[in-house]
Amino acid sequence: MRNILDRAGVVFYQAARIFGAEVKPMSLLTIIEFPDPRLRTRAEPVTVFDAELKQFVADLFETMYDANGVGLAATQVNVHKRVLVTDMSDDRNEPLALINPQILEKAGSQVYQEGCLSFPGLYADVTRALTVKVKAQNVRGEEIIVEVEGPLAVCIQHEMDHLEGKVFVDYLSSLKRNLLLKRLEKARKQAATA
Ligand code: ZN
Repeated sequence: MRNILDRAGVVFYQAARIFGAEVKPMSLLTIIEFPDPRLRTRAEPVTVFDAELKQFVADLFETMYDANGVGLAATQVNVHKRVLVTDMSDDRNEPLALINPQILEKAGSQVYQEGCLSFPGLYADVTRALTVKVKAQNVRGEEIIVEVEGPLAVCIQHEMDHLEGKVFVDYLSSLKRNLLLKRLEKARKQAATA
């Protein structure tokens, strides 16, 4: 998910702090953009928790921070495994990686203006649960339970949708969606000819 506020130049994620010496220098992954049909792929559960997975999670964080995103799902880099990363903190120092996430409970509702790294420049109000309780695994395969509310709850629900092949504009009325997508297409054409 992309935050409405761009935070250029605040990328200082240190993978070594979280993953130890196992990760190599991180590399940026290519984010695929709507309407790429690969965004509609349903991700498979992660069953192997090895150094390769840690490296992938580190690369996902690096890619998210580099793009000034607040959340990124593996689906968006064309890896169809149930992995997502988020960091909604202003200082970009609260990385959260969820592997095989499942929503146990949700409550309330909130409307939040969402963006997405796979839809550059497009924002829309979406209604989602206010609080969610999520069961997942960390990079070591240990079970974790997170209970979150507000924007972080929005972000986790948004990224979990990606793992199901779902994107945020799917929640809009077809009229609104078509209008926004036309605008996106126009902006893309202008960027291509500029
Ligand atoms: Zn997204």
